[in-house]
Amino acid sequence: MSDRQQTTIFSVMTALAEQTGAINLGQGFPDEDGPAAVIDAAVAAMRAGHNQYAALAGVASLREAIAEHQRRRYGIELDPQTQIQVTFGATEALAATLIALVETGDEVAMLDPSYDAYGAVVTLAGGSARPIVLEPPHWRVTAEAIAAAIGPRTRALLLNSPHNPTGRVLDRDELELLAAACREHDLIAITDEVYEHLVFDGEHVPLATLHGMAERTLTISSLGKTHSLTGWKVGWASGPAELVAAVRGVKQYLSFSGGTPLQHAAATALSMTAEIEHLSATLAGKRDRLSAGLREAGFDVLDSAGTYFLSADARALGEPDAAALCMRLPREAGVVAIPIGAFCADPGPQARALLRFAFCKREDVLDDAIERLGRWAAGR
Ligand code: PMP
Repeated sequence: MSDRQQTTIFSVMTALAEQTGAINLGQGFPDEDGPAAVIDAAVAAMRAGHNQYAALAGVASLREAIAEHQRRRYGIELDPQTQIQVTFGATEALAATLIALVETGDEVAMLDPSYDAYGAVVTLAGGSARPIVLEPPHWRVTAEAIAAAIGPRTRALLLNSPHNPTGRVLDRDELELLAAACREHDLIAITDEVYEHLVFDGEHVPLATLHGMAERTLTISSLGKTHSLTGWKVGWASGPAELVAAVRGVKQYLSFSGGTPLQHAAATALSMTAEIEHLSATLAGKRDRLSAGLREAGFDVLDSAGTYFLSADARALGEPDAAALCMRLPREAGVVAIPIGAFCADPGPQARALLRFAFCKREDVLDDAIERLGRWAAGR
């Protein structure tokens, strides 16, 4: 099987969860749906006849809601007509962006570990990924790591904060380092901000708000995580008109447009600030609950300031190989996790011992998983 056809780690582990009946803390999807008002808005949009192709750029009311969201939250001004492109999730926005910008032989610098789609799509586009290596347990971006990742063929910097899989929320100092590298080497920045609202400690700062960055940054986000609607796949890319036009040019041949009623409902969702804050506060409680339970079971738990995820080191339990442990845990403990090494180009010893757990689950599900892991750890 070629790299292009490889099964992702998420599919492997979710299949294992289904076979064994284990609790799936591997894949990051919530087990409770987003706000009823948003679901009602989608039903109403279908009943109102919004069932045919949307405009290529996306439904106008959603583009206006995205522009309003960026203005209200971050002070970013966007023209909804030329500076916003709606996509099938952040995934399609990333794919269209990378296909549009990366030429054969180009390099894309990206945080390592990183979400597995990045490297795969860069390869599909004919480029190659260059890691900006983050070291556990603090996973900080350093000037040395940036310098090591940038060379004469580097075309773009792909950034994800809040960061999957580590739960890091990059601070201003780190963002300034990345912005300086983009300006110095004339790189386009592509930022994946799908967890922008799921920040428990610190603050999310879009790279586009830093000096000299608005004109070279494509900002990507989506509805899925922030509204617990991951199956809707409504996403968007925004930024300078010429970059958005390039993304649009590719997107028209990937899927053209669709999900029309969901786009209408997404416009409603983006204005629901109280619900978004409530979800974030609830998730912070779940992070604390799972962290405490894992510590009790004997794992060393690393800090997580945002996203759906935290990571835990299993060496204290005599398990230095998280990849092997994750294959055994569903049968031995009845819990699925994902090895952090699956997100790294070349994981070091600590990264190889880390498991990523998703805490975006009901509290009773988390409690059940904690109890199972506690029993497993005690019985060894
Ligand atoms: N980026 C990151 C960092 C993610 O974790 C995910 C979902 N797991 C995505 C993008 C995909 O987003 P969407 O579902 O909107 O395509």
